[in-house]
Amino acid sequence: MVEIRTVGVIGAGQMGAGIAQVSAQAGFDVILSDIDLPRAEKGRSGIARQLVKAVEKGKLAQEDADAAMARIRAVGEVAPLGEAQLVIEAATEREEIKRAIFGNVGPLLAADAILATNTSSIPITRLAQAAPDAARFVGVHFFNPVPVMELIELIRGLGTAPETVAAVEGYATALGKQVVHAFDAPGFVVNRILVPMLNEACFVLGEGIATVEDIDKGVKLGLNHPMGPLTLADFVGLDTLLEICKVLQDTTGDPKYRPAPLLTKYVEAGWYGRKSGRGFYDYSGPEPVPSR
Ligand code: NAD
Repeated sequence: MVEIRTVGVIGAGQMGAGIAQVSAQAGFDVILSDIDLPRAEKGRSGIARQLVKAVEKGKLAQEDADAAMARIRAVGEVAPLGEAQLVIEAATEREEIKRAIFGNVGPLLAADAILATNTSSIPITRLAQAAPDAARFVGVHFFNPVPVMELIELIRGLGTAPETVAAVEGYATALGKQVVHAFDAPGFVVNRILVPMLNEACFVLGEGIATVEDIDKGVKLGLNHPMGPLTLADFVGLDTLLEICKVLQDTTGDPKYRPAPLLTKYVEAGWYGRKSGRGFYDYSGPEPVPSR
């Protein structure tokens, strides 16, 4: 089984930077790449800011923060990724982008190196067709924000070898994360359960059954969830939620995954949630207030 010492991360956005941070803090050398060097460096500076905050709060020693930063190399081209035993793709959630990345990076990898994807919804078995070897291709689904969330879903495509899963599980454990295993299926485990629940909350609101506040309060107190489904949907991004509903509906052909009309309407209005300043809540004031 391959021994993972260097981790390559493709995409230095919110997930890729988080993956680079936790990997470096766990002692792995990290090569963080993006479309160009400025974007990769932006991801690296974001990590530096996170670590400064952790030191200020007394959660991390200054020397550990310095050591973690020293392990992260930002690069603007793919060639250095050939040094990694594990490369995790965390680029934009578009299949053609991911396929093109695998085509560029695949030939650089060592014969025993593993290529993994952090996709939220694209089938692993299908993506594996663009990778150099389906046996060494796996889904490694982190949760947002990566340094805080304890879970990693490991998703096995039809061709993924057990040794690949075992090697990536060893890496995940070294990060201090908990692993759940899943076979490749739309939405894997967590999004398969979560997304229909968030979508159902949109139906409940759209049908005028309860207010935004009462839907969130009902689920929070009645199910003991840390936040209500509409608050969570605004965090996830309503555009992302709608995309995942569509992937579930298209890949299963099951109408139970049809997106709520209100969700589609909000996305068409540009109400994407927190990232656009308005979703089920309006974030323009000091405290979020229901949008309607
Ligand atoms: P993001 O938009 O924050 O970051 C994506 C990054 O990929 C950007 O920096 C972009 O420049 C880069 N990129 C685009 N094309 C590239 C290319 N050809 N080569 C290298 N880099 C490229 O997105 P994100 O939220 O970090 O999501 C990244 C992946 O993680 C997606 O597949 C997403 O579905 C998945 N994911 C997201 C979440 C979440 O809650 N946001 C959770 C789990 C998984």
